[in-house]
This record gives sequence, structure tokens and C-alpha cells, in this order.
Amino acid sequence: MPGPAVRHDFPILSRTMHAERPLVYLDNAATSQKPRPVLDAMTSFYEESNANVHRGVHLLAEEATEELESARATAAVFLGARSENEIVFTKGTTEALNLVAEGWAARRLGPGDEIVVTALEHHANLLPWQRAAARSGATLRAVPATPSGDLGDFTFGPRTRLVAFSHVSNAIGTLLPIARLTTAAKDRGAVVVIDAAQSAPHLPLDVEALGCDFLAFSAHKALGPTGIGVLWGKADRLAETEPFVLGGGMVREVTLESATFLDGPRRFEGGTPPIAEAVGLRVALEYLRRIGMDRVVLHDRALVRGALDRLGQIRDLTLYGPADPERRVAIVSFNLRGVHPHDLAAFLDQRGICVRAGNHCAQPLMSALGCAGVVRASFALYNTMEEVDVLARALDEARELCP
Ligand code: PMP
Repeated sequence: MPGPAVRHDFPILSRTMHAERPLVYLDNAATSQKPRPVLDAMTSFYEESNANVHRGVHLLAEEATEELESARATAAVFLGARSENEIVFTKGTTEALNLVAEGWAARRLGPGDEIVVTALEHHANLLPWQRAAARSGATLRAVPATPSGDLGDFTFGPRTRLVAFSHVSNAIGTLLPIARLTTAAKDRGAVVVIDAAQSAPHLPLDVEALGCDFLAFSAHKALGPTGIGVLWGKADRLAETEPFVLGGGMVREVTLESATFLDGPRRFEGGTPPIAEAVGLRVALEYLRRIGMDRVVLHDRALVRGALDRLGQIRDLTLYGPADPERRVAIVSFNLRGVHPHDLAAFLDQRGICVRAGNHCAQPLMSALGCAGVVRASFALYNTMEEVDVLARALDEARELCP
């Protein structure tokens, strides 16, 4: 069960912070902590099977290749994909979105075509489309959002060729209406790209049921290591996508003048892939599945509900995002009147509480909210209601110190 029962799986949670205070880690939207099975599996890989993949004929190379490919199969099951051939390993969500923008959009779109994003996007799901639009001559449009992160009416036109949106806002936690967005985009024949960086650790995902074309997430936010992420792409869309990293491991035949590339995911994985990281990713996804994503959803919702109730009572504290806990995921963002978000985060740090403050790589959204930044508390399956209470008491204290 999520909550206190899993805490002993996460070694870092037992360390102390300033003045021997216990760690209250509420910066999970930036990166999650890693459970012991993930750490152990990565160490064992290096101790027992380390070798480069695909190219060797010796036993270690075979074992390393099996590890990499078994992580691909686990990621396919985690996402409800048809086949592991639809799973491309990238460095993370950012690289995955750049691959689709460069390898698909910049090459296949042209003047008169339209790319649509939302006003809530993380820069990783905005900047690549800005450049793809500039390179292809397509236009880029953003569906506006209300201050709580709700999307106004959105319509896609006959020239809308690609729609890219996040599943959950990393800055204010809003759950986007991804089924509605996908259906509306598909009705126009547009390609749908989902940034699942903030949903993969918190919600069950099923790419076939969603009906999207591409979906990306990062292992490090989902209990896995840094340095690896997943781009899922429908087989026919991946076949239309040009690789942007060329080199060893992704070629069929090379002459001094030209080269032909492999089919399938390896076409996009030039160079040595993140092998130990893939082992960590596999074990992290297995850990999440064993806990059960349905249980994770209930746990997150209870924490969000508790945090909204408790923080909602603090005078001079402004909460951002939807008031309904069912319409947000594991993130509660706020500002205390008269206190700079960074100063508030530093105050919380002195009490052992890790949160993040700033624009959260979502500057257009901050402009829409009318502030330069917010403080963000974000939860994972090991957080507890007691920790929400520690946060609320520290904010009470900060409020009392304010003029
Ligand atoms: N999209 C969203 C919604 C995110 O929250 C993040 C990470 N903050 C990213 C994309 C980028 O992820 P990464 O830095 O792991 O590539």
C-alpha cells in the first residue's frame, strides 16, 4: 500500500536535514526518490553483467542486451502498447519531444499547416514545436487556459496537423481533458503527442485506449534513474519519423557516401544506450505496477484533498490550480502574500521540507497567472498525511512571521 508502508523501501527518506530535522520530500514533480530494488538492480547489473549491448557475441554482451530489451518489454506493458517495437529509449521527456518535433513535424509539415499546444505547457513541450514550426513554415497556436488551468473552448481546423499537450500541468497540477483533446484532434486527422512526464508516476496509462500517436515520459520522475526516458510511438508514425542521432547501433549498411538505417526503435537509439538506467527503469515500473496504479491514484487524491483543505485555511495564502482534488494530480502550488516564492522555499528548507519555487519551466502559464513564480509541493506514493501537516504548520509559522 502507498504511504507509510512503503517508506522503508526508500533509503534516502531516513536521512535528516538541517538541525537534524527529518526529511519531508515534497519535490517529486522535479524528480522522485528511488526504492532499494531499483538501486540494487542497477548495482547488480554493473557487478555481474556489465557490457555494451547488441554488438558483442560474449555472454556478458548477451546478458546486457537481454536486460535492455526486457526493459523495453516492461515499458510496453506499462503503457498498454501493442509491441515493444513501439518503445524508444531517450534521455528523458525533453529528448523524446524533440525527436518527434525534429524527426516528424519539422519534416512532414509545411506552410498552411498548424501545430496546436496549450498555454499550460512545460517549455519542453513548447520550444521544440516553436522550432518545428519555424523550420517547416507551419504556424503554432496555443489553446488558452483560465487561471485554474482549465482550457477554454478548443477547436481544431482542417489544417491542424499536430496537437501536443501535457497530461498533467507540472506547475499547478491541473489534469487536462486528454480524452476530449485527443478525440477532437483525431476527428481532424491530426497527430496527437502527449507529454506524460507528470502522469506516468501517478495515473494508469493506456496508449491504445487513448488513441494518441506519441507519448513521452521520464524514468526519474517515476521512481527510476535519471538519464533514461521513453518515447512511445505508434508503429506507422515511428516509421515516418527520421532519426536525429546518427551513428553506431542504428544502421543497416554504411558506405563512405551513404547509409541505410534499421527499422524499429533502434533506428532512434544511435550510440550506446543507457543500459544500467534501463535496468533501473524496468524495476521502477515493476515496483509501481506491484503497488498498483489504482491505489496510487487514491493515495495521491487523499494527500491533495488534505493539502487543499489544510492550506486553504491559511490566511494570505493563494492556492493555484483547480479546487476539485479530482481535477488535479499530486501537486499543490501556492504563494504567501508579500513573500517571494524563493524565500518561502528557503524557509521551508530550514524545516527539512523540500519544495520547488519559481516558474517551473512554464513561463507563459506564470504570465497567465499574473505572477513570476509559485511554490510547488508535489507528492509521491511514499508521502504521508503527517508530512502534509508538517508543511501546513511550517506555512502557518511563515505566515505569522510576515509583516
Ligand atoms: N514535461 C513536463 C510536464 C515536466 O514536468 C518535465 C520535467 N519537469 C518535462 C516535460 C521534462 O522532463 P525531463 O527534464 O525529464 O526531460
